[in-house]
Amino acid sequence: MQIVHTVEDVRALVNDWHETGLRVAFVPTMGNLHAGHLQLVALAQRLADRVIASVYVNPLQFGENEDFDNYPRTLGEDSAALADAGTDALFAPSDADIYPEQQTERQAIQPPDALTDILCGEYRPGHFAGVATVIKRLFDIVQPDIAVFGEKDYQQLLVIRWLVKTCELPLEIIGAPTVREADGLAMSSRNRYLTEDQRAVATSIYTSLCQARDRIRQGEQDFRQVETGLGQQLEAAGLRPEYVSVRRKQDLALPEAENDELIILVAAHLGVARLIDNIMI
Ligand code: AMP
Repeated sequence: MQIVHTVEDVRALVNDWHETGLRVAFVPTMGNLHAGHLQLVALAQRLADRVIASVYVNPLQFGENEDFDNYPRTLGEDSAALADAGTDALFAPSDADIYPEQQTERQAIQPPDALTDILCGEYRPGHFAGVATVIKRLFDIVQPDIAVFGEKDYQQLLVIRWLVKTCELPLEIIGAPTVREADGLAMSSRNRYLTEDQRAVATSIYTSLCQARDRIRQGEQDFRQVETGLGQQLEAAGLRPEYVSVRRKQDLALPEAENDELIILVAAHLGVARLIDNIMI
């Protein structure tokens, strides 16, 4: 696996691939890789000839009181895991590569309020602007043909789809299903913040989501009641839910029509960790 750190080197590498007619897939990450990330790589390998992953902890997408300083940085292990998985290249840029001085706030990307004022965006002001800005920059640098993102961060996936559409970027976005631990907990770099006891409690996020999904599948139309029930279940298990919401899958608006495709999304605090998950109906 080639490891590149600078904009110049990554551009030269991807250019070489493109010149020989190869299709390039990109998997952006913040590192501390787990099996969920590696599934994105595996999917990318099936869809393209070359796969490049990035590891960059983006300061712009963290709020002031969030875990930017403590976010696990494990580049050596990440690089070994990516190489084992057969990834062709790893882009590990510095802040100066991603945000050179001439890149001022003028270039910050602001997705529409309808996507950023709700759910995670309501509790993490500026987060999705930070995500859109870094991903636009990474796409401009790497210039992939496709990019793979996890459905675990479903709101983020829709922000990226909006970005590609609005900026008319010539690449395809692929969503990959959430990879879970054996007991259903969605894999996340933030799971490592959990104590053993909290880890046992965390499993109730997925079991409660499954129960809520089943209620709706069995015909429950009162989504507010489903949300309240799910929130109470999480609280009873020892979590502090931030939001619990039944939404329209296509745009995360509130459901309107009977045949809307739905998704249930949850964010909850447990100890120092903030965990998110969702389930499609
Ligand atoms: P992160 O490193 O947390 O920024 O995540 C990088 C990419 O991996 C994003 O597209 C995430 O949605 C995706 N991802 C994170 N956790 C999972 C998971 N458990 N299953 C599938 N994709 C995931």
